[in-house]
Amino acid sequence: MLFKEIIGQEKLKKRLIQTVNEGRISHAQLFLGKSGFGTLPLAIAYIQYINCTNKQESDSCGTCNSCLKLNKLSHPDVHFSFPVSTNSRVKTKALSDDFLHSWREINLESPYFDLNDWHRKIDIEQKQSLINVHESQELIKKLNLKPYEAEFKVLLVWKAEHLNVQASNKLLKLIEEPTGKTIIILIAEDEEALLKTITSRTQLIRVPLIEKEALSSYLVQEMEIDSEKAQQLAILAEGDAILMRTKMNHSEEQDFFFQLFVTWMRACYEANIEKMHTWVEQISERKVGREKQKRFLEYALEVMREGMIRNYVGKDLQRFEGAEGKFMLKFAPFVHENNVFGIMELLNEAHHNISRNAYAKILFMDMSMKFANLLRVKKRTFVS
Ligand SMILES: [Zn+2]
Repeated sequence: MLFKEIIGQEKLKKRLIQTVNEGRISHAQLFLGKSGFGTLPLAIAYIQYINCTNKQESDSCGTCNSCLKLNKLSHPDVHFSFPVSTNSRVKTKALSDDFLHSWREINLESPYFDLNDWHRKIDIEQKQSLINVHESQELIKKLNLKPYEAEFKVLLVWKAEHLNVQASNKLLKLIEEPTGKTIIILIAEDEEALLKTITSRTQLIRVPLIEKEALSSYLVQEMEIDSEKAQQLAILAEGDAILMRTKMNHSEEQDFFFQLFVTWMRACYEANIEKMHTWVEQISERKVGREKQKRFLEYALEVMREGMIRNYVGKDLQRFEGAEGKFMLKFAPFVHENNVFGIMELLNEAHHNISRNAYAKILFMDMSMKFANLLRVKKRTFVS
């Protein structure tokens, strides 16, 4: 991991680089901040810089032997410890090493991930994870060995608040009596959850939130998102790259649902069986999946609700803007008192049946044909 691959945090990067170049590397440090601020990538880039044998002024070289190994997170003198739990593969005494392969994979995909992502990765979503005392014992053994090839032996503990008390106490010994050229880096979000004896013996590196400008230029340059949208997302992200990804996925999904909804309503209004069929194929594609189909139906319910409110209250909830807003203006008159209950019922029923594993293609085709009738119901005025 090079410093230049990290989103923003220029000030902190400079400070870290400076401490290395001035030979002021503290042997126990605590990187404190939310995962989405980049605590983990910063710590990895810092470790890489410390061990790089061809340091540049503002970054590691990326090509020396040490850098090449760290690029793959497989340097023999850099050890990783992180919360784990037993799963279907590891039945007892789960240690970080049992999950090292997954750890490398998730990091190489993107070092911006949180505990939920990690749990999903190692298939322990329903469980608590921790760093246990067996793990601490292993770490002590590893750190007592001489470095293989690097100047410094490094231990990085991710989510240090997950160390249980016994494990913390064992680790404390290492922090108090470091062996040789050893550096211990703890990463945590919640200072309060750590033992005071640990926090008082580590140098604190506060990782602040990522600057808005850095987030938006990352979106424009790396994700090819247009600059207006990038700026919106950067505001919503609150300095957190993980939150930004969630917001981005959400807005992509919203665009996808909108297109899907428009095609669907056109096919139904025209009562065009062929178009309906094409649409059913699209929403039943494997990549869509049941949960997404359910979210689409929730989206459709929301459009219908908004249509009714525009028709009868004459206002909009401003839930839909841009292209969606324009579409709503044209679509709203098709939802009225003579069909809205039937429409809502159909959508709710479909939502319920998808949860109960109904066959999606039949369900959506059947629903489309019923919709074709409902959309053609005329809005009648009551004549007394
Ligand atoms: Zn290097």
